[in-house]
Amino acid sequence: MRRCIQRSMKKTLALLFALAVSAQAITYKMRDIPKDSPKFAKILAEMNRHIRQQNASPPLPGGWTFKILQTVGPGKYIAVREVGAERETCALEMPGTVMVDDSRVQVPVEENGIYSYPSVTGANKTVRCYKRIVQEQKAQTPEMTADDLIAKLKSGKSCSFYAPKLTRCQVCSGTGKGTEKNGKCPLCAGKGELNMPIFCRVEW
Ligand SMILES: [Zn+2]
Repeated sequence: MRRCIQRSMKKTLALLFALAVSAQAITYKMRDIPKDSPKFAKILAEMNRHIRQQNASPPLPGGWTFKILQTVGPGKYIAVREVGAERETCALEMPGTVMVDDSRVQVPVEENGIYSYPSVTGANKTVRCYKRIVQEQKAQTPEMTADDLIAKLKSGKSCSFYAPKLTRCQVCSGTGKGTEKNGKCPLCAGKGELNMPIFCRVEW
């Protein structure tokens, strides 16, 4: 038990250390770096890698699964929201759709008040209402040329990105060994080095 607590404390310390290292930041003053230098090219390549990554990330999470029970109006349904084993009877608004009873749909939604309808017993039933969020096409940021970057920075804007950097693990001093016999370092898992993203700020 005590060993277990010690181990979890060690893990916490290791994580704190990791956070401290990843909080490292570098500021590049581009006015001091010639446009045709390898250093400029490397920074620009990292900027564009960051832009490509941003462009590729999904705009919204996938939403929830709803099973349609019945149609109660144009594009409006009584449905069952399914989250894991949880089931919630609700209303679902999806303007412009025609859904068949007992079919399922997975959509991102937002809450939209409550909805009342007469149940089979004649008593009014009040449920939560969800409305489909229509995903807008995510704007794609174009990649930058050296001149684009310089113009942007000269206009007073800054850019930033995270650059991956392999750093020697300071918990195990690069040995990869843990304190227990034949154990591995809890932070780097025995590799002796870590990929620590460094925050890079680019300004004129
Ligand atoms: Zn280590």
